[in-house]
Amino acid sequence: MTKWVYSFSEGAAEGSAAMKELLGGKGAHLAEMCSLGLPVPPGFTITTDVCAFFNAHGRDFPPGLKAEVETALAKIGKVAGHSFDDPDWPLLVSVRSGARASMPGMMDTVLNLGLNDATVGSLARKSGDERFAWDCYRRFIEMYSSVVLGAPHDAFEEALDAYKEKNGAAYDSDLSADDWRVLVEQYKTVVATETGGAFPQDPREQLWGAIKAVFASWMNNRAAIYRHLHNIPEHWGTAVNVQAMVFGNMGDTSATGVAFSRSPSTGARELYGEFLVNAQGEDVVAGLRTPQPLIEAARTKGPPEGLSMETAMPAAFAEFSGYVARLEAHFRDMQDMEFTIERGKLWMLQTRAGKRTATAALKIAVDMADEGLITRDEALLRIDPLSLDQLLHPTLDPDAKCAVLCTGLPASPGAAAGEIVFHSEEAESLAALGRKVILVRIETSPEDIGGMHAAEGILTARGGMTSHAAVVARGMGKPCVSGAGVLRIDYEDHSFTVAGKRFARGDVITVDGTTGHVIAGEVKMRRPELTGEFAVLMDWADKARRMEVRANAETPADARAARRFGAQGIGLARTEHMFFEGERIVAVREMILADDAPGRKAALAKLLPMQRADFRELFEIMSGLPVTIRLLDPPLHEFLPHSDAEIAAVANVMGADPAKLRKRAQELAEFNPMLGFRGVRLAVAFPEIVDMQARAIFEAAIEAAAATGAPTQLEIMAPLVFCRAELDLVKARVDETSKAVEAETGLRPAYHIGTMIELPRAALRAGDIAGTAEFLSFGTNDLTQTTLGISRDDSGSFLGIYTEKGILPFDPFVSIDQEGVGELISLGCARARATRPDIKLGVCGEHGGDPESVAFFDRVGIDYVSCSPFRAPIARLAAAQAALRNALQTPPGRSADATA
Ligand code: PEP
Ligand code: MG
Repeated sequence: MTKWVYSFSEGAAEGSAAMKELLGGKGAHLAEMCSLGLPVPPGFTITTDVCAFFNAHGRDFPPGLKAEVETALAKIGKVAGHSFDDPDWPLLVSVRSGARASMPGMMDTVLNLGLNDATVGSLARKSGDERFAWDCYRRFIEMYSSVVLGAPHDAFEEALDAYKEKNGAAYDSDLSADDWRVLVEQYKTVVATETGGAFPQDPREQLWGAIKAVFASWMNNRAAIYRHLHNIPEHWGTAVNVQAMVFGNMGDTSATGVAFSRSPSTGARELYGEFLVNAQGEDVVAGLRTPQPLIEAARTKGPPEGLSMETAMPAAFAEFSGYVARLEAHFRDMQDMEFTIERGKLWMLQTRAGKRTATAALKIAVDMADEGLITRDEALLRIDPLSLDQLLHPTLDPDAKCAVLCTGLPASPGAAAGEIVFHSEEAESLAALGRKVILVRIETSPEDIGGMHAAEGILTARGGMTSHAAVVARGMGKPCVSGAGVLRIDYEDHSFTVAGKRFARGDVITVDGTTGHVIAGEVKMRRPELTGEFAVLMDWADKARRMEVRANAETPADARAARRFGAQGIGLARTEHMFFEGERIVAVREMILADDAPGRKAALAKLLPMQRADFRELFEIMSGLPVTIRLLDPPLHEFLPHSDAEIAAVANVMGADPAKLRKRAQELAEFNPMLGFRGVRLAVAFPEIVDMQARAIFEAAIEAAAATGAPTQLEIMAPLVFCRAELDLVKARVDETSKAVEAETGLRPAYHIGTMIELPRAALRAGDIAGTAEFLSFGTNDLTQTTLGISRDDSGSFLGIYTEKGILPFDPFVSIDQEGVGELISLGCARARATRPDIKLGVCGEHGGDPESVAFFDRVGIDYVSCSPFRAPIARLAAAQAALRNALQTPPGRSADATA
């Protein structure tokens, strides 16, 4: 029989940390904390299996669940010493979601459940605090009605505001027990008006309503968006945790807080977090009051103000610090914890691996390996390669002059500049147009997730370091300044005022999430430093990986970046990209439009010195490392002149009639340029292009070697071949040019000849092609285009629909289609190796920088990947993880067929 419910209470639990799939992260860790003997309020977890059943059976529960919940409730009663619906001393419970992966704030929660018109009085008597009891009751009505009954939250806020105004109260704390009593009645009227029914008084009805609502919230809109952004599968479902309430709002010896065992922002090894005296947990996260720091050292660092927990509650602080150390050692990772102190007694409410910035993740992994808590391999496996992208973000140039408008909390590091927008939808629509925006909100809520994603940075007026904005921004790697309390935001006017100045929508500001500074205008930024823990971890990665990592680069700036980011050479220099600018493009057009060989040769003669100079600079920067140069592959539509001015410029240098030239350009225009006169086809038709490029390469190599003393490892590569004969032709011309240069200079730079594999036929014929090719480089951009028959340039209009409908779980131009394109790659590798066992095999499409694809390439035995320079660190770490995982033989990656 399926067990649906798992109980836990101090010292004993039916579940454990290993049961995350079934109990969700929260439930599994509550169970583990109980088994460790930590003080946890008793409770139980309803499994994710129930969620699956609930969703598959029209929101119905499995038979047997009711009885198991009753038994578990009775157990809580036994431990707590009073039962759930005891009118004299009511046991109140919280009902919270808890999925396998943490999804902060995305699903629903109900607190103080069990209160009604009778039990509120008992709570007042037992607690000796009437105000507290009525405050709890009104919070419960508000929360339950909006979460379970669907009443709008604003209706309660409006009633509260109207009451305060009428009675001259500025803050909630000005209201007495009697005030709350009156408001409870008003709230009940709101419920009746908004839902057409009375507020439920029966605790069991309340409980099942809440359980249902929390399970249902797995399918709500914001949870769905969050899942989509974080690749969390829908079928995982959430668990529901029902737990005895403990109260942080029972006066000044009570408090509630959140803590990280190390800084989630920098990774520093110090307790980090905030607490609020006389408050419930939701008050901290909601960011409505600015919380106080936990440790005294943090208090002196600036805002927030107020006594630290260390000073205000030393005994509870000492006990808590002990648990923090134990939890971190037990879980061998940085912990994010929630706690409550009820009249001096400490309760642990949650622990989980803390979300952290990429900077913190790196420092924590390296520190923990150095402390011996984890191994270096584990440290490598703990970093999400894609998160390294955050470290490559700019920071403010310290020498730049800037007018700091105000300082908020440094909630998520990095700096960003952009136009001010106040609403998430606007952030999304402007970002879609390529504009850079800063999302400015009084506070963010989970509804803002799309806007936060679209913005360059986030600025809020309210909320602490653990507010929604802070947590979500850190997860996304977006710069965020939160709690900038002096901002006066006027949503209606689309403006804010600060330091006596008004800033309107569209004005540009800079936010610095490292210092908390908000600055007028755009400030000069600086490139990130790739030293410290970054360098250490990259060094470990380089030792652990098997595959080489190169970069795709043809400009000097890219080549320098490639070296800075640790690329071991250039895996693809796209020579046509060297011809995009100024007089070069005119010369290229001249060559393309020439009527005959002499005309073409004249144009090529102009290009030769430019090519030679470019190659020389590239070789000098790469100083002895391998450089793979791809012969010209200009899809014609990218190069043909279109405008009158463009045609006139070419006509002018050619001394030709513009009308004639226009006609020639029209003749050359193609219906399918991607499948047209490009790649090696150009070399087949006009071999003099190969002669020019080979000459430029060899002459530049001779000059660079003389200058640096380090001969370049030259690799010359033909694009878009489908058979060996094409490559043979190219090889013959290159070999001839090499001999000619040798005859002129007495020098013969060493080189290898190879080809791109970008067409299915080339992959199938790799065995034959390897008879000539000394290396193969899979051009997975074109190979994906030609295998799926999806145009690279046109996929944008329909591929999104495929991923939305789940026909494709991901974009095959981003992550390699392992079963289709991948099959061609592994087949090509095997056939090529059968002909030439020592053949060098690489990948130089965009997939070379995608971690999932890199893992696949490692499995099929690719020797190197080549990606854009900024992705080289990602590829280095991904290659290390692939080597470690493949050594452990963990299961292969994802499938391109959604149903598989
Ligand atoms: C490829 O097709 O994967 C490739 C690297 O070439 P390009 O992107 O220049 O077509
Ligand atoms: Mg290509």
